[in-house]
Amino acid sequence: MTRDSSPFELLILDCDGVVVDSEPITTRVLTEMLNELGVTISVEEVVETFSGHTFTLEFASKSLGTSLPHEFLENYRDRTFAAMESELKPVQGVEIALGQITIPYCIASNGPHEKMRKTLGVTLLLSRFEGRLFSSADVERGKPFPDLFLFAARHFAISPSVCLVIEDSPSGVAAARAAGMTVYGFSGTTAAQRLLDAGAHRVFCQMSELPSLVAARR
Ligand SMILES: [Mg+2]
Repeated sequence: MTRDSSPFELLILDCDGVVVDSEPITTRVLTEMLNELGVTISVEEVVETFSGHTFTLEFASKSLGTSLPHEFLENYRDRTFAAMESELKPVQGVEIALGQITIPYCIASNGPHEKMRKTLGVTLLLSRFEGRLFSSADVERGKPFPDLFLFAARHFAISPSVCLVIEDSPSGVAAARAAGMTVYGFSGTTAAQRLLDAGAHRVFCQMSELPSLVAARR
């Protein structure tokens, strides 16, 4: 597998749920905090509502039909950071898979830079992505808009048509399609059908499959 043999020139990875297994932690903490505030919501409903979206008070209030206290975001960040410190792991098989990828790769996440540096640091993956981290904070509009993926492609001066995006949320899949890129859904916690419905060109569920997917045509 050489760079020449891949039909793609840039691999763009979502962070949460694709590189680091943070989604179970963030959704659990968020579910706990909402229930503490009297919002009756299940882990499944939290995934459905918030996965792949930038979590803002405005978006949460609109989705839940109730306003959250101003300190909610800060408390949520503190509690998830504390939980990640002891629980966070890389997505199974991702380190080995990355070691076999021969085209340039980067991360594009709706999360803030601080969160990416934290989660990649805890899982000892940060050095692989130093200087190759892109956040929705870098652009005007995060996923599901295409801005962030286009920003990453522009950074490497690579055409969107030869970028491969790996996403685990419908919102991220939609963003990649809007950017004119090939997108494969990684079906970890999200049902494969939801990713296909959002426009994923294919879906896979083991990171060990990634190197051969990168080397093959769509
Ligand atoms: Mg994700």
